[in-house]
Formats: sequence, C-alpha cells, structure tokens
Amino acid sequence: MKPAPFEYVAASSAADAVEALRRHGDEAKVLAGGQSLIPMLALRLARPAALVDINGCGDLEGMAESRGVLTVNALARQRDLEIFARERAPLLAEALRWVAHPPIRNRGTVVGSIVHADPASELPALLLCLDGEVVARRRGGERVIAADQLYVAPLTTSLESDELATAVRFTLPPEGAGWGFAEVTRRHGDFALVGCAAVLALDGAGAVTHARLGFFGVGGTPVRSGPGESALLGRQPTPARIGEAAKAAAAALRPDGDLHATAEYRSTVAATLASRVLAAALERCGKAA
Ligand SMILES: Cc1cc2nc3c(=O)[nH]c(=O)nc-3n(C[C@H](O)[C@H](O)[C@H](O)COP(=O)(O)OP(=O)(O)OC[C@H]3O[C@@H](n4cnc5c(N)ncnc54)[C@H](O)[C@@H]3O)c2cc1C
Repeated sequence: MKPAPFEYVAASSAADAVEALRRHGDEAKVLAGGQSLIPMLALRLARPAALVDINGCGDLEGMAESRGVLTVNALARQRDLEIFARERAPLLAEALRWVAHPPIRNRGTVVGSIVHADPASELPALLLCLDGEVVARRRGGERVIAADQLYVAPLTTSLESDELATAVRFTLPPEGAGWGFAEVTRRHGDFALVGCAAVLALDGAGAVTHARLGFFGVGGTPVRSGPGESALLGRQPTPARIGEAAKAAAAALRPDGDLHATAEYRSTVAATLASRVLAAALERCGKAA
C-alpha cells in the first residue's frame, strides 16, 4: 500500500520543527529515521495530515557525555550510540546490538525509538534503568520528562502532539557498577518476546548500594521492577537472594499473551532472564566495564 496524502515539511532547525508542529497540532507527525513511521504510513496505520521531517535540523545532531550524563540529541542514529557507548556505557552498546539490524540502526534514531514507545523495544527499558529523561520542546518553552513519567500505554507517551523531543539523557551507572542484558527473540533482530536489563553496584562490604532491573516485552509499557530492586538493596547479593529477587520481579509483571508467546511463558522467561542478568551484573561489579 501507499501512504495517504500528507503535507511534507522539511524543517531546517529545531525551532522550525516546533513551529510546524504548533501549526499542524494533532494532525502532524515528526519524521526522524522513519524506520517505524514509514511502515506505519505505508500500511495506513498512521494517517497524519503533515510530516515534519527533522533530518535537516543540524542543531539536533550529535551526542556528548558530561559529568556522568550522556545526552543524545534527536538526530543521533542508533548505530552512532552503539559505537560511542562501547567504552563508557557498555550496557547501552550491548542492548543496541539487539535492535533490528545494522541498516535499520544506521537510520533509526535513539530518540525516535524511545518516544515511539514500542513495549518490546530495548531502549525504553534502558531509559528506565539508567534514570533517563526526555527533553521536550514546544513553542514558548521546554520541559524535562523523567523516564518513569513517560510511558503511558503501547506506542503512547506523555509527550504532547506539539512537542518535539530534542534529546534524551541517560545517567551513567556509578563507578564500579556491573550490568547485565538478555533477551529472547524468535530470530536475532526481531522484537523481543521478553527482555531484561540490570545494573548493580556494591559497597566495600559487598552489600548492594544501587540496583536497577528493567523489563521489556512483558506488557503495554517497559517496566522498572520495584520488588526486584528492593529485594537486593542493602543486602549481600548471594545466589539465593538473586533468585528471590528475580522471582519477586517476575511475579509482579502482568505480561500479555499473543500469537508469539503466552503470558505464562513470558512470566517464566522473565524470571529466568532476571536471574541471569543480575548474576552477570554482579560478576562485572568492580571490574572495568
Ligand atoms: C525490520 C525492523 C525491525 C526492527 N526491530 C527492532 C527491534 O528489535 N527493537 C527496537 O527497539 N526497534 C526495532 N525496530 C524499530 C527501529 O528501532 C526504529 O528505528 C525506531 O523504533 C524508531 O526510530 P526512528 O528514528 O526510525 O523514528 P521514526 O520511524 O521516524 O518515528 C517513530 C515515531 O516516533 C515519533 N518521533 C520520532 N522522533 C521524534 C522526536 N524527535 N520528537 C517527537 N516525536 C518523534 C514519530 O513521529 C513516530 O511517531 C525495527 C524496525 C524494523 C523496520
């Protein structure tokens, strides 16, 4: 199929894009990498009256790290972050390896993936695990949306239709923290059936001082697991305790069943993955990345 007719607006700056979004209101969509939006247009699952193409906005390019915060601007491609993150944020680099395939990551943006809000996507769950936030700009002002305030439902965020996400920020884990990442897919590059990421840091006595556990593919939004994290915080992460934390985390999930996997399968796999990523995070604690 072909997309329904739309007005094409080639924005040349973030301000230009914001003005176009104001003019068209609910009727407009931002076009970034197009890796999700173009198929949706072609299938007529989305029929915006206007497309605001931000690919010519030089002020939305690039990424930078400063004082433990990694800022990724709206035009930075997933592949750029995958390369940039290898040294300083290996959890992000590893997760990105699982996003689709290199040609898609060469085009798809980090910000586009995060605001597209597919519940089976890797990056939204990482935004939760890395205490992330989205910078949203509309005419007349800017606001910052914390990751735990962003995700509302499948493909739905708290971003307003006249807001442009200009950047996302990830807070890098504390010094000496370890990480783990795992997902189950039918084939490499497919969206995950279930996925899980963890970050752990320990004090000098070996007790957990920092715990993040996030899931994707287990419901309508990515999930950060309060029960899984609190089962570990302040305690020695013995194998038994890691098992208990993984079980507690999986028990609190409410996954859906679909054509590809039942809800029960997803819960069982979530518990197994949580236990593996926590063990991997523990193993990496105190080692360089
Ligand atoms: C075959 C295939 C396999 C894939 N597999 C995976 C996978 O395994 N894991 C995964 O996570 N993703 C996967 N994807 C999706 C891919 O990662 C997309 O690139 C990503 O979801 C969207 O990024 P984009 O820059 O292409 O955004 P676009 O497609 O341009 O936009 C997506 C949505 O976000 C909005 N948007 C984009 N940027 C902004 C902004 N700056 N401000 C406000 N709104 C914005 C758009 O209006 C649109 O609604 C796959 C895609 C394909 C085609």
